Amino acid sequence: MQTEPYTKLYLSEHYGNEAFRTLAGYEAAGGFQGLRAALARDPEEVTELVKSSGLRGRGGAGFNAGLKWSFMPKGDERMKVLVCNGDESEPGSFKDRMIMQQGPFQILEGLLIAAWATGARRSYIYIRGEYQYPIQCVRKAVAEMYDKGYLGRDVFGEPGFEHDIVVHSGAGAYICGEETGLLESLEGKKGQPRKKPPFPAQHGAFGLPTTVNNIETFAHVPYILSRGVEWFRGFGTEKSPGTTLFGVSGHVERPGLFELPLGTPLREVIAKAGGVRNNRALKAVIPGGMSMPVLTPSDLDVPMAEEFLSERGTHLGTGGVMVMDDTTCMARVACVISYFFRDESCGQCTQCREGTGWIHKLCERIEAGRGRPRDLELLESVPALMEGHTICAFADAAAWPIKGLLRHFRSDFECHISEGSCPFPESFEL
Ligand code: SF4
Repeated sequence: MQTEPYTKLYLSEHYGNEAFRTLAGYEAAGGFQGLRAALARDPEEVTELVKSSGLRGRGGAGFNAGLKWSFMPKGDERMKVLVCNGDESEPGSFKDRMIMQQGPFQILEGLLIAAWATGARRSYIYIRGEYQYPIQCVRKAVAEMYDKGYLGRDVFGEPGFEHDIVVHSGAGAYICGEETGLLESLEGKKGQPRKKPPFPAQHGAFGLPTTVNNIETFAHVPYILSRGVEWFRGFGTEKSPGTTLFGVSGHVERPGLFELPLGTPLREVIAKAGGVRNNRALKAVIPGGMSMPVLTPSDLDVPMAEEFLSERGTHLGTGGVMVMDDTTCMARVACVISYFFRDESCGQCTQCREGTGWIHKLCERIEAGRGRPRDLELLESVPALMEGHTICAFADAAAWPIKGLLRHFRSDFECHISEGSCPFPESFEL
């Protein structure tokens, strides 16, 4: 198994080095310089700095991280809380797992900087239950921090700066990656997203003011403080600075993680993974985890940053790039995707609960060669009834990929209906 990214810039520079996973090794590699630089500034200044760095959340939504921190209420006597989202349940995404395994102290340092900036007294790191090894790695790192006196009271010698970190194991539901579903799960309830408002900054974990950010987002923060905003903006694009760990999977020669600046053309990202397997032709790419609409070979020069991908009707999401070659049947892909979303809907909203079921039923019928000509019209109409009408964005995420597949690969579906069989006999098995 690949244990470190194939390309490295700053975030993954030391991945693969055993020592970097220990507190001593992390400090020897320059660790905690970002935190020390933060402690030398006023908390508001640190928030402003992170805001001006343009760091966007790496969990999917791409919201400015510093701006999110600034929503934490001022002058509120309640304890403030940070939540680090390590649920990483989007199919095609596996970067957070690597960070937890190879750079756990980067996450902890990022959390402490955010704690200083927002006044948070406690952090919860919520990790999906299937990630037993990453959970062990993060727990070990937290224990080392306590042993050395780096957590608890007077953190890093700063009088009055108190912070505790709790590592929480999830139980394996996709919807627990949605921030309010995660908060419910953290509180020991069913992981069902909450209606907003109130937003987590006002009423988050246990009713306390809360900021939720993704694992990778926190891991970038120390570098912004230690090396500066200008340095950070030297990577990526104007609107999407920094790097990310692109996780390339599917029909490529060398699947894996690649740390590249945001805005790297899709063609280059795929080339880093050795290109399409067996010199076959590219058919489609899902650019940011399974819930994102598909791209086609004509999009190969698109810069992999949200502002460019959204112009093409898709999104960067989690940066999980799923490559499919010309043996792939898109009716089959739709069937697999819709099966996942049907099973993972939390069921609170009728449009989502029923819509995901309808989409899968139609996809399954078409894929099995039992589709009727009017099924395609129906399949197009259901997503329109789901999008924008539900408590959380899950329904949109379930609808988008199906719409994208129909837009670009309608003939695959039509062939299943007219011929009653799959036109791509080499396509993967269900
Ligand atoms: Fe649950 Fe779906 Fe509604 Fe989200 S959109 S709250 S997943 S039913």
